Amino acid sequence: MTANLGSAERPLRAAIIGAGPSGFYAAASLLKEGNNVTVDLFDRLIAPHGLVRYGVAPDHQNIKAVAKTYDRTAAEPGFRYFGNVDFGKDITHEDLKKHYDVIFYTTGAQSDRKLGIPGEDLPNSMSATEFVAWYNGHPDYRDLEVDLSCNAAIVVGVGNVAMDVARVLAKSIDELEDTDIADHALKALAKSNIKDIYVVARRGPAQVKFTNAEIREMGHLAIADTIVLDSELKLDRASSAEIEGDTAMQKNLDYMRAFAEIGETGKPRRVHFRFLLSPVEIIEENGKIAAVKMEKNELRASVSGDIKPSGTGKYETIPAGMILRSVGYKGVPMPGVPFDARHGVIPNEVGRVVNLETGKIVPGEYVAGWIKRGPTGVIGTNKPDAIESVNSMFDDLQKNKLEPAPDPDPEAILALLKERGVRYVTKDEWKKIDAVEVAEGKKRGKPRVKIVKRADMLAVLES
Ligand code: NAP
Repeated sequence: MTANLGSAERPLRAAIIGAGPSGFYAAASLLKEGNNVTVDLFDRLIAPHGLVRYGVAPDHQNIKAVAKTYDRTAAEPGFRYFGNVDFGKDITHEDLKKHYDVIFYTTGAQSDRKLGIPGEDLPNSMSATEFVAWYNGHPDYRDLEVDLSCNAAIVVGVGNVAMDVARVLAKSIDELEDTDIADHALKALAKSNIKDIYVVARRGPAQVKFTNAEIREMGHLAIADTIVLDSELKLDRASSAEIEGDTAMQKNLDYMRAFAEIGETGKPRRVHFRFLLSPVEIIEENGKIAAVKMEKNELRASVSGDIKPSGTGKYETIPAGMILRSVGYKGVPMPGVPFDARHGVIPNEVGRVVNLETGKIVPGEYVAGWIKRGPTGVIGTNKPDAIESVNSMFDDLQKNKLEPAPDPDPEAILALLKERGVRYVTKDEWKKIDAVEVAEGKKRGKPRVKIVKRADMLAVLES
């Protein structure tokens, strides 16, 4: 008689693709005591932790501390890590179906949205996603061309990512030095000429997406004033009604009013918040960005109650040599996995992957995190989200809706990767790289010194 799937005799074998926060939260939930599950977590990068390592701002070490929780999950006996394994290239959907009973996709939102305006492809026009990856030492962005020799930069969007990039541009080297910002970025920022950073919103101050802590921080910058124009803080009736009783938004407004009152104090840099402006053209001079033309907007309440920006046909041009669009992340499709291109997510029902063409659930395949619900919420939001998807899986297991993998031998995937010449990085190998980074950080008074290049990480393992 064959043993039941998910029993002590035949533990359920789960593959997770993507070792960011949702991947680890899914793993933790799967590995809970008494579950009889083993987890193999794959990532295309050598280092795990996804956005915690490569997205969260380096001066937000308190948020990065969550990685300790992920390390506890990685220490569970049923957990294996396979870094440096690219899904779709090194291993395929078919391979996973052969060796795992269930698959979880937790790949986040790795791409970004574009503005779709002339000049967007000029040098020094980039997404905040790329800029963040560059200063956080993401191996794929080590050589991103970032030119900080201009006097002003424009950040489009008023979410927390916009706040992160504006703050990093506004901070002094003293404020960044004791973080884990990548060495190459720190060196470039030390020579930055940028004095004015414009954070530009297409709607008004009542529609900002940043949170209280992030706007509060703008009042504590050592070498930058935060400037808000009093004239731009006046709310129209619909906006006032929209935020009535919304204490977080009222608090945001209070901070912005305080900045308007304080005004400029003579610090060498300035972060300007500007409202009701949409970039319509990036203006070039001698192959470089010279300015960004903005259309002034007014707000219109739609029938559904949404408050939308509407162009007035009036324009303003802001001189700047850099533009960072921070208008939202976007998921990317994966070979063999359903994808909803419009929303940039894997279509799903409570975490169960759905085939868009048939409308049917794809048995044994699940999704969690940003690739499930879109790029919203903070790191911790991914925990309940991942638990929800894992619960869907256990529900399916209980109802016998899962098909056991034809070759569940845990050694089979190792043999396959070796046969293909894939240099996968194990959990112990990552620990070795991690220890080297932390030791180097200790010497220099930082949480860690990131090893950026893949080859340099692998060299640590050969030493
Ligand atoms: P976000 O919060 O969705 O903000 C996107 C911004 O882009 C909004 O201001 C939006 O304005 C604007 N936008 C979108 N399309 C635009 C266009 N075509 N033209 C001009 N502006 C446009 O996204 P995010 O900042 O990328 O952050 C993603 C998630 O990560 C959020 O949940 C965020 O809180 C989280 N996060 C948290 C932290 C933290 O906790 N410290 C740090 C970073 C990120 P509209 O409102 O008008 O659409």
